[in-house]
Amino acid sequence: MRKSGAAAGFVRKHTGVALARLWRSLALRCPHCGAPGVTRRWVEVRASCPRCGLRLDRGEPDHWLGAVLFNLIAAELLFGAGVLAVLMLTWPNPPWDGLLWGGIPVLVAFAILTYPVTKLLWLGFDLMFRPPTPGDFAPPVPPSPGPAPGEPG
Ligand SMILES: [Zn+2]
Repeated sequence: MRKSGAAAGFVRKHTGVALARLWRSLALRCPHCGAPGVTRRWVEVRASCPRCGLRLDRGEPDHWLGAVLFNLIAAELLFGAGVLAVLMLTWPNPPWDGLLWGGIPVLVAFAILTYPVTKLLWLGFDLMFRPPTPGDFAPPVPPSPGPAPGEPG
């Protein structure tokens, strides 16, 4: 009985951590510490977190393949839900040409717009299975204040 209580506590603790990482990633924050400012412009994720110093690519050149996978899955799920909704609303005469030619730009736009989120989601997912080690942290770098007034941006 005591073991199941400890197991339940372990599961509860790690579920909470996983949900916190998911939420932080969706909010474009560091999945590890929750700090904002881990993205630059829209599609670029910084090299490391400005607060905790976690290297956001984990120092691996192929780390973002998982983010691409998450991005494709999310885009396909959205497209499938959209096609299903259009079919349900327009049956028995669905606009097949509209679905085909309208779906392509929607898929491309969705993939681009959600790329930073899926990058951070992948990092949060990866951190669940490979918790950060001291080697995953770089010295914190504060976000740049941007160009000074009068400087070209
Ligand atoms: Zn952080």
